[in-house]
Amino acid sequence: MARIFSGIQPSGELHVGNYLGAVKNWVALQGTAEAIYCIVDYHAIIAAYEPAQLRIRRREMAVGLLAAGVDPDRASLFVQSDVPQHTELAWIFNTVTPVGELERQTQFKEKAARAESVMAGLLNYPVLQAADILLYLADRVPVGEDQIQHLELSRVIVRRWNALFSPEADFFPEPQPLLTPTRRIMGLDGQAKMSKSMGNTIGMLDSPTEIWAKLRPAMTDPKRIRKTDPGTPEVCNIYHLHKAFSPPETVEHVARQCSTAGWGCIDCKKVLAESMETELVPIRVRAELLREEPARVDDALASGAARCRALASETMRSVRERMGLD
Ligand code: ADP
Repeated sequence: MARIFSGIQPSGELHVGNYLGAVKNWVALQGTAEAIYCIVDYHAIIAAYEPAQLRIRRREMAVGLLAAGVDPDRASLFVQSDVPQHTELAWIFNTVTPVGELERQTQFKEKAARAESVMAGLLNYPVLQAADILLYLADRVPVGEDQIQHLELSRVIVRRWNALFSPEADFFPEPQPLLTPTRRIMGLDGQAKMSKSMGNTIGMLDSPTEIWAKLRPAMTDPKRIRKTDPGTPEVCNIYHLHKAFSPPETVEHVARQCSTAGWGCIDCKKVLAESMETELVPIRVRAELLREEPARVDDALASGAARCRALASETMRSVRERMGLD
């Protein structure tokens, strides 16, 4: 059975970009392949953070993922720092990663431009990501579009390591992305991708009141100034969220109402809020139940980590042997 791996940072709330770009696919894919899903806390500590808050966020991320449908009987869910081999393999991969490739990464350039001082962890982030995936010899990675370039780099790393240490038969597979139709969700500002670090998100676990409070002022078609101006659905972020959450006949109706100025943006947002509630309220209810049963969350994470430690130590035994480190 093929093995798939994916990770998410516990650096803030699980938002609908994460949900539509990755987590929904995680749920759909479990059972079709051996699925390994990771809460990547070593990635989250690259940006400034409060230790007490990280503990809470790791837990809330586990609650959110289980509530969204990750099933511990069909997938291994665990916290990255519970499997120490991630950083061991990352160090090894650092030794075969060209610095120029790291400096070319778009996410690095964007984040470095915003940072006062740039830490080595930010530059080396994709190397740890390659290690996360390859520790389990996973070849398919359900992610959003923002991760495509990082996965390309992981293939560069794999080719170089294989050429040096496993020339007769490739030990590591070359990981490929698995994208959803909603691979890039824009933030409510309509300017940048929805991201935990940008403050432009709708939380997957937000209440209907919170969803409405965020949707109401959200950016729409920038050229639609008055209610009587016909809009262009394709350039409107709200329309794209409709495509993700509303049934096809509603999406069609929305497009017609927008382009004929039949509806104002608020009418359109009200319908979107209802569609989002239909999909998200059951997840929110499951999350509330899980918070009342902390042992269920602990058990899921502990069994996932135990399984992943066993797989990781098998990989590392072969890696050390091939590199003369045994
Ligand atoms: P964030 O950028 O919010 O910190 P992560 O880096 O933890 O998110 O990414 C977790 C997963 O969610 C990745 O697979 C990523 O590609 C996906 N993802 C993040 N933001 C978006 C978005 N705006 N649209 C689609 N997918 C996204």
